[in-house]
Amino acid sequence: MNKLKLMLVVLLTISITACFPSNDSAKKEILLQGRTMGTTYNIKVVATIEQVETLKLHEKIEAVLQQVNQQMSTYMPDSEISAFNKSHSTEPVEISVGFARVLAESIRLGELSGGKLDITVGPLVNLWGFGPKHRPETVPSDEALVSARARVGLHNLHLDGRQLSKSIPNLYIDLSTTAKGYGVDMVAELIEVNGIGNYIVEIGGEMRLKGFKDTGELWAIAIEKPILDPSGVQRAIHEVVIPKDNAVATSGDYRIYFEADGQRFSHIIDPATGKPINHHLVSVTVITPSSMTADGLSTTLMVMGAEQGMEFAQQHGLAALFISKTEHGFTEQFTVKFKQYLK
Ligand code: ADP
Ligand code: MG
Repeated sequence: MNKLKLMLVVLLTISITACFPSNDSAKKEILLQGRTMGTTYNIKVVATIEQVETLKLHEKIEAVLQQVNQQMSTYMPDSEISAFNKSHSTEPVEISVGFARVLAESIRLGELSGGKLDITVGPLVNLWGFGPKHRPETVPSDEALVSARARVGLHNLHLDGRQLSKSIPNLYIDLSTTAKGYGVDMVAELIEVNGIGNYIVEIGGEMRLKGFKDTGELWAIAIEKPILDPSGVQRAIHEVVIPKDNAVATSGDYRIYFEADGQRFSHIIDPATGKPINHHLVSVTVITPSSMTADGLSTTLMVMGAEQGMEFAQQHGLAALFISKTEHGFTEQFTVKFKQYLK
């Protein structure tokens, strides 16, 4: 559904004394991996192999992810979202519960941010070549920009419970900013419903975790140092966080971009200008209980830039870390609420 987001996050073992009783020594960290939404997923559950097999946990996870794709992938021509995008009808249609949940949260964040997060921005994303069709890497003409912008705006989309409609026939919804996080939430909930209370779920860099590792230590996450190197060779750890029972999302524009005339063009669009963001903020990390919310907020703050983003995050009591590029290297800023998670 989404391009590779590729904020590498490494799981580290950190010595912290914790009180997870290892009364069942057969329980180990079991890794369940696969591909979904145009990226990979890595899940660790603390359980016995028999438990995971009896529960058919991997199969259930695959089924949940397939359902999310079937609802919200713009990369699948026969998904629910694609059907809505293709239809020119302005009549309300009944949509699935999952699709409605992600839309409701995305619209809430869109309104909260004064339109900085805008799930109708799809025509602009596609115009700049970051959509499912991956057009040539060129700067679009002013004319094309004007006509794409005419199709964008949250006021053109109406959600009433599970009834969804659009007021312009060619509105296009892109849930790339929240659907991956929603997939993480769905998998996390599935794991819990199956009686497993210690886990970490990661899809394309979006993650949510709970409880402890098999050693009794808390899960720790390394936030990667942003380096402009799409090959991914030069990766380095920037900061280690202990998020406890929360989700962690990082938005960064240093890996998915194209260059033209010596300028870098990000895949994140500022709906106010219709153009890719152009500022010195290179990554934003948000920690919050829901992965869907963290995912959407990290993109929102990325669109805003360091100054407005920091102000917004403080005002709304968000745990957020901003990494910016300066002449002398990277600088970071974090909100009061983020501090508690720093190792
Ligand atoms: P990041 O991890 O960098 O935040 P995401 O994959 O979460 O990236 O979201 C970026 C994607 O969201 C883009 O590829 C595009 O499809 C879409 N997008 C870009 N700009 C916006 C925006 N202002 N509001 C909502 N979605 C956007
Ligand atoms: Mg995001």
